[in-house]
Amino acid sequence: MVNYGLKGRVIAITGGASGIGRSAALSAATDGAHVAVLDVNQDNIDKTLAELRAKGVKAEGYALDVRDEVAMGKVAKAVESDLGPVYGLFSSAGISRTAPAEKVELADFEAVLDVNVNGVFLAAREFAQAMIQRGRGAIVNVGSIDGLGGHPGRLHYVSSKHAVAGLTKSLALEWGRYGIRVNAIMPGFVDTPLLRANMPEKYIERVVYDRTPLGRMANSDEIAAVAMMLLSDSASYMSGAIVPVDGGMTAGFLTRG
Ligand code: NAD
Repeated sequence: MVNYGLKGRVIAITGGASGIGRSAALSAATDGAHVAVLDVNQDNIDKTLAELRAKGVKAEGYALDVRDEVAMGKVAKAVESDLGPVYGLFSSAGISRTAPAEKVELADFEAVLDVNVNGVFLAAREFAQAMIQRGRGAIVNVGSIDGLGGHPGRLHYVSSKHAVAGLTKSLALEWGRYGIRVNAIMPGFVDTPLLRANMPEKYIERVVYDRTPLGRMANSDEIAAVAMMLLSDSASYMSGAIVPVDGGMTAGFLTRG
């Protein structure tokens, strides 16, 4: 088992009750970190909290919508008083939509940007307030390979994930002086409830297995592992990095052949 050196540190995780966020919460707790789970889904928060506490760490859950500016401000303060100074933020909450570009409704376009961009921005801004005071912190945002290039049928999602890359670079530039590192991971196809809800098995077979050099999807623990490394002191000289975690999918133009 890898030791990330996060023992005793407080990590806040948006979308921490499912998929990649849940894996990150469990990885952090296995490493001895105390974990704040921020999510809209109360049932899944409760399930995840039980798993985290079974590992002997402190864990608290906060039901909130990442789009809610006021709630995010309150929760950022609550986590500090409930668990202690927050060292790390992992922003994993996100939603996905699929539609041909010419049929994308403005409301859907805005809905995806609202969660995937505004939510990441608000979490970073609110949790950074105390990090700036302390002169220390690490933030990892979840983008996607759809933040590195286009993807037919995914206009809104692609736009939102490109924005996550821009947001991450801007924050890294501005907050480095406060001792805060900000990086983004860009996962390829990861076997989570979100992916299964958006991609039929036929599509997965044709696009994912065939176009991924490693020939398979990731499991969410493989994505969480990279996030933990970026949060940890092992990445002490990494900031503003946009890191693909995609089984090689974006390495070139050709498929496995
Ligand atoms: P998931 O659906 O399993 O988990 C997402 C979590 O975010 C859920 O618990 C959900 O309740 C929460 N959430 C959604 N909207 C929210 C809101 N408004 N406020 C608070 N919480 C909210 O999905 P996942 O696959 O683990 O995705 C996590 C992140 O990874 C997303 O940002 C997604 O875009 C990104 N991603 C996923 C894949 C993939 O293949 N699964 C690939 C690339 C990027």
